[in-house]
Parts: sequence; structure tokens; C-alpha cells
Amino acid sequence: MVSPALSLRDLRVTFRGSSGPVAAVNGVTLDAYPGQVLAVVGESGSGKSATALASIGLLPESATVDGSVLIEGADLNAMSEKRRVALRGSTIAMVFQDALASLNPFRTIGRQISDAYRLHHHVDRATARKRAVEVLGRVGIREPQRRVDDYPHEFSGGMRQRAMIAMAIVNEPAILIADEPTTALDVTVQRQVLDLLTGLTDDLGMALVLITHDLGVVAETADRIAVMYAGRIVESGSVLDIFDRPAHPYTRALLQATPNLEAPGRLAAIPGVPASGTNLPGGCPFHPRCAFAAAVGDACRTQRPPLDPRPGSDQHRAACHYTAERELPHD
Ligand code: ADP
Ligand code: MG
Repeated sequence: MVSPALSLRDLRVTFRGSSGPVAAVNGVTLDAYPGQVLAVVGESGSGKSATALASIGLLPESATVDGSVLIEGADLNAMSEKRRVALRGSTIAMVFQDALASLNPFRTIGRQISDAYRLHHHVDRATARKRAVEVLGRVGIREPQRRVDDYPHEFSGGMRQRAMIAMAIVNEPAILIADEPTTALDVTVQRQVLDLLTGLTDDLGMALVLITHDLGVVAETADRIAVMYAGRIVESGSVLDIFDRPAHPYTRALLQATPNLEAPGRLAAIPGVPASGTNLPGGCPFHPRCAFAAAVGDACRTQRPPLDPRPGSDQHRAACHYTAERELPHD
């Protein structure tokens, strides 16, 4: 059996907000395996970024973390700050949505990549520069030996995101977390960057955690999918589990809100307001928006549904009182 590269166990993140605590992550348990893409999908505000930042130990001071983050079996929250810093960028790395904000405008691309390399390798500048050229080539930058001396503003948006990926993989991490890495890019470039990420996952045997609010991007990219709502995973499974036999009404609503290739332009909104971390509904957090809650009775309002295995499948799980007993009706 292959061990997970990253394991979260009952992860909780609470922010001290200006008007009281914000329960951003409310008990997330997941595993990301080497050479596989785990897509984490959910609406804006569902706690995806807070989960990612907790996984790499980069939450702001205003956050409290409970539960555990295991990186290749080692508990991030129990280790020394020195060890955490040593792991970050070498064993676990992250790519953010906004490459322009993450790159230093006053330093060349090559310098930023070679600095990231030298943080974890005792080599001279010339060796690190060679490594920067090599890794820029690997992420699909043409003429990397010439472009290595460019500044971020000389790169296009897509190239900047490739440069960010180069910086993140320069030390060949076991785990790469990509937080909405293609949101700022146009559709063609989006596809290319996703192909690059999946190619790297195969080649380097990384565990890729791909965070997105768009189910459309994960169908061809992911091995497994976790659907988040209000800081919880409400459903997880293979791509087929999620797309062909969704067991949670929220997953189904998300799928219906995803633009359909056969009916372009049709974008259904999910009725109701997303649950917020300052005012979480009791019971199932989705119940105020759920079309099936009425059929169950009180349980949806009063009891938190556990993320239980689905019958007949080893990885498909869902947290829903309604579908614990029956299938969703066909539309
Ligand atoms: P997502 O990435 O899924 O859009 P986030 O993880 O960014 O969601 O946010 C989850 C919740 O935590 C939201 O309600 C958000 O407003 C809140 N939140 C995020 N960062 C902070 C912060 N630094 N201080 C207070 N609240 C925050
Ligand atoms: Mg986010």
C-alpha cells in the first residue's frame, strides 16, 4: 500500500475576525497520494485556501489551528519552526492564483528561482542559475537560457504562472498545492497550465492538490475529488463517483451550475446564500439551501451528517442524511 504524502486529520481553522471568530475549516480529513491529482472543489469562501495555508503552515497569526497536518507522516503542528521552514519549499510547495503578486517585480525570474533552489541546496550561483534554466525549460518556457534574465513584467500572464510553478518545483517537492492556479488565465492557457501540472505530477511522482471553484476544470485533470462546503468535505470520490453518481445535493447543484459543453452559456446559480464561517447553520450546513432537506425531517437541521462510505465503493463518501438512505431522484 502506498502511504499518502499529505494527510489532514480533522483539521480546523478559526480566524479572529473583526466581528468575532470565523470558523473557516470545520473538520477536514483527506489524503493526497504520490503521483495523483486530488482536486478540492467548492464555492468561494468554503475554506479551500485556509485548508491549503494550514497544510503548508502559512496561516496568519490571527488563525488558530486544530487537528493534524501530516507531511510524509510528520506532524507539521508538532515540529519545530526550524523543521517547518526546512520542509516548506523542499517537501511541500505551493502555487498561488495571482502570479504577479507572488513574484518580486525587481528581481529577474531566474534569480527568484535560483534563490528558491539555494535555500535548500548548498550550491554556488552559477549552478543554481543552470538549475533555473533547466526548470524553466521543463515548465515550457521557450529559450529558457535567454528568458532566465527577464523580469516578471517581461513575461505574459501564462508565462508568469509557469515561472511560479518552476519556482515551486525547483526542489522536486513530494507535495504541491496549487490554489486556483489558472483562475486568472484565459481558457487556452488554463488548459496548458493544467496539462503542465498533471505532467509534472506523473514525472516527479508528486501529490498534487489542485484547488478550484470550477468543477469543469477537474473532470480531465483529477484522480480524486473532494467537494467542500462551509469548511467541510461533503463528498469525496473518484471522478466517476462525483460526475456520474453524485451523492450529495450540493455536488449535484455544483454540477448543474457548471457550464455545459453541449449547452454553452447555460449557467445555473445555486439558490440561496452560501453558509458563512461567522454564522454556520446547525446540522448539515447545506440544509437551508437543500431541496431534499424537507423530506428527511429534523435530522438535516439538527445533526451533522458524517462523511460515510457509499455502499459498493471503496473511495466514494458523502455526508448527507437524505442520500444515506436513498438515491437522489433523476432530474
Ligand atoms: P476559499 O479559498 O474557499 O474561497 P477561504 O479559505 O479563503 O475560502 O476562506 C474561508 C472563510 O474564512 C471565509 O469566510 C473567509 O472570509 C474567512 N477568512 C479567510 N481568511 C481570513 C482572515 N485572514 N481573517 C478572517 N477571516 C478569513
Ligand atoms: Mg481561496
